[in-house]
Amino acid sequence: MTDDIALYLHIPFCHSRCSYCSFVSFERREADIPTYVSALEEELTRRAGGGRLSSIFFGGGTPSLLSPEQLGRILTRARGLFSVEETVETSVEGNPGTVDERYLDSIRRLGINRLSLGVQSLDDETLALLGRTHTAAQARQAVHDARNSGFANVSLDLIYGIPGQSLPAWRDTLVEAVRLGPEHLSLYPLSLEDDVPLSETIRRGGLPAVDLDLAADQYEAAEDYLASEGYHHYEISNWAREGAECRHNMAYWRCAPYLGVGVAAHSCIDGHRRANTRDLDEYLHKFQLRELCPAETDEEIGAEGQLWEAIVMGLRLTRGIEFARMRDLFGVDLVGRYGDEIAELVGQGLLEKDGRGLRLTRRGRLLGNEVFWRFLPQ
Ligand code: SF4
Repeated sequence: MTDDIALYLHIPFCHSRCSYCSFVSFERREADIPTYVSALEEELTRRAGGGRLSSIFFGGGTPSLLSPEQLGRILTRARGLFSVEETVETSVEGNPGTVDERYLDSIRRLGINRLSLGVQSLDDETLALLGRTHTAAQARQAVHDARNSGFANVSLDLIYGIPGQSLPAWRDTLVEAVRLGPEHLSLYPLSLEDDVPLSETIRRGGLPAVDLDLAADQYEAAEDYLASEGYHHYEISNWAREGAECRHNMAYWRCAPYLGVGVAAHSCIDGHRRANTRDLDEYLHKFQLRELCPAETDEEIGAEGQLWEAIVMGLRLTRGIEFARMRDLFGVDLVGRYGDEIAELVGQGLLEKDGRGLRLTRRGRLLGNEVFWRFLPQ
């Protein structure tokens, strides 16, 4: 029996590009949103294979640029194509400054029950440096509006490791974020591709380079502080109140099937992986021609590739990977196959092993890549 499917819908529009952004998003293309929504519905219809949805996630870009009517149309289509329980986790990413209480009330009535806010920082200077279009006050207001409109599951995204951001400044943002009472927090280190404006500013000497040691200190400070505040650190970058772990992202980390629809969306079902085109014009053009959205890559992942993904994604979770599950899924005895690597990583203090399975240590969470490559297929 096929597992339940996690549905991802990519909304690649933003008012303007943040200075660090390398996501697939397009600024000043809001006029294309109505056609894009129709194209998304069409792609969904063509690619849905039935079954039951375990979660629905509108990610971006800035999904909150879609009107409630547009989000509702997509949800109605999804509910007609799949079996969807009324309470299924249904998330929308939104940016402060693009949502208000009326808007949030309308989308909550559509069955959207989880709001993920791109807060990033609660310091106005840092927000300006990141090129965010909102202020800290707007971020606070967005959380209040979410509560007033009945959202009981709110997640905040924050960024650390920002040039010039001191440890105390990061702590201030974190403390204030916790005071806002989110059920879930995602903390990401600033990661800069060469071609983004912030990298250029650093190259020109306008800002100090990212300090990786300081970023590691900020991460560890967050681990300690959030534990003291009762948040469960369930994945390298994610913390939640008990029971508020993100079901949608858990599907990725557990290598459950997911269907991605829209520009640049990825899917992986039954060992078949597909990435849609990243080109918005091409996506819209194919829709006008009544053709299926083109794939950028489309491949079968072999058994070895699936095993490696399951190890890497599973190790991202604090509970790690279970030997029994790996044996059931892949017929592989991890200790038999990777005994030397595991012993070495345990010796280096990066990995913990017990009779149940493997998990990253606190140090291993900081140096995950040092661990992951040791399990690469031969
Ligand atoms: S809001 Fe997100 S997707 Fe949009 S430009 Fe900023 S970082 Fe990129």
